[in-house]
Amino acid sequence: MEPGDIIYEGKAKTLYEHPEDENLAVMEFRDDITAYNMQKVDTVEGKGVYNCLISAKLFEVLEEAGLPTHYEELLDERRMIVKRLDMFPLEVIVRNIATGSLVERLPFEEGQELEPPIVEFCYKSDEYGDPLVNRDHIKALGLAEDTEVDVMKELALRVNEILSEFLKDHDIILVDFKLEFGKTKDGEIVIADEISPDTCRFWDAETGQSLDKDIFRKDEGDVLAGYREAAERILRDDEEKAAMLPRE
Ligand code: ADP
Ligand code: UDP
Repeated sequence: MEPGDIIYEGKAKTLYEHPEDENLAVMEFRDDITAYNMQKVDTVEGKGVYNCLISAKLFEVLEEAGLPTHYEELLDERRMIVKRLDMFPLEVIVRNIATGSLVERLPFEEGQELEPPIVEFCYKSDEYGDPLVNRDHIKALGLAEDTEVDVMKELALRVNEILSEFLKDHDIILVDFKLEFGKTKDGEIVIADEISPDTCRFWDAETGQSLDKDIFRKDEGDVLAGYREAAERILRDDEEKAAMLPRE
């Protein structure tokens, strides 16, 4: 399928118009990787394929559990069809283990278990560096209604339960992750964007080794090998997607 015009070119993905349906879009996962608000930028050949296939699988897992997502179908190993949404300019972060910016900001111990999990909202803005916002900020800035914040938080916690269990069965600990939400033209709030090693922290259940973007953030070695390992585990019961993985 030939996609239509570009709707938006972001830091790691490009969104195209769907050639036939204005309520859909084509999402392409590129190989660009960035961290620390663009202070670190690179291209990792093949990364987009891993992120696309992992996201497709995890969206399918959520759909099967009855959660609303923007995912429609995989077009090829780098592109998926999604519902075209009106996005909330928010990043919703769920944390099961303290690490990353949390331990820099607050007196949590690195690796400390967080039970119940912590949910954070950030304003998605490169200009302001994605700052944390609370309910009052969200309301005053008109980013979302109070009731919409409640829906997003509840969905984020359900995603955490479902994916933590699925990933545990695939020898991965879901440490933390970021979600984005959007609204369909009928007003339904659905889980959007991607769920991948770019947006989640995945730790090897045995060794605690990172299989995600922390390898890039911290210069800890072969980023692609980490993403490949995550993909192979996540897709090991899904022959169709596993067959689309790049040959080593
Ligand atoms: P960024 O905007 O952070 O640079 P990406 O390169 O990942 O990020 O670009 C993807 C963009 O598409 C993001 O801005 C995201 O909010 C937006 N988006 C994700 N899913 C949808 C969707 N279903 N409909 C419309 N926009 C979406
Ligand atoms: N995250 C993300 N995009 C962002 C910020 C965070 O996908 O703009 C994800 C990140 O991959 C991690 C979780 O959200 O899984 C928590 O990230 P943290 O706040 O610790 O940020 P970082 O360490 O990246 O500054």
